Amino acid sequence: MNLILLGPPGAGKGTQAQMLMEHYRIPQISTGDILRSAVKQGTPLGKQAKAFMDKGELVPDEVVIGIIDQRLREADCKNGFILDGFPRTTPQAEALETILAKIEKPLDHVVNIEVDSEELVRRLTGRRTCKNCGAMFHVAFHPPVKEDICDRCGGPLYQREDDREETIRTRLKEYEKQTAPLIRYYQDKKLLRSIQGIGGQNQIFEQIIRVFNAKSV
Ligand code: AMP
Repeated sequence: MNLILLGPPGAGKGTQAQMLMEHYRIPQISTGDILRSAVKQGTPLGKQAKAFMDKGELVPDEVVIGIIDQRLREADCKNGFILDGFPRTTPQAEALETILAKIEKPLDHVVNIEVDSEELVRRLTGRRTCKNCGAMFHVAFHPPVKEDICDRCGGPLYQREDDREETIRTRLKEYEKQTAPLIRYYQDKKLLRSIQGIGGQNQIFEQIIRVFNAKSV
């Protein structure tokens, strides 16, 4: 199963990608996670990406395309993959098409998770992320058992620099301008499956599985 999860920041792509990963036993490939890890390690890639990320802007296309080109060739992508946060621009989508043609892994579905922007701001400003394992919590909707401590690994929770309100507004504008056109792009290719990203995470997951099954009959 070769998948893309599309949707604005805060739509729940990361959560759904993890659930799909467990269900289909295929890797979740999140450019945001790869970039954050590079920033944390202080690699040349991280140094290049940090300023863009802190401002809520997109990292240049050639940087993320290079990451994905390498990552998709790794052995664990043999039976499929879930792209989470890539592509985010039309040039990225076009480059992905070329890469997938080369490695003979055509896309099966592009899942578009729809959520309105005020709800996204509410979700993102309350979001807390574990510094160690990347697990996500929310101060109101999904609080950890112990304040500021990760339920999964005991690591410290923090608010991502780009989850502050002003940066969130920039990220949402970037999404509208650069990423939303991909909805049409994948609609034209008959790959788009839109679902409502409202409700519990299990409900949303069931919707996704339902659209896959409906399209594969
Ligand atoms: P995310 O965790 O997916 O919200 O990504 C966090 C940040 O990483 C974004 O705001 C961008 O600065 C950068 N980023 C992640 N994926 C991409 C991408 N496909 N293209 C450009 N920048 C990206």
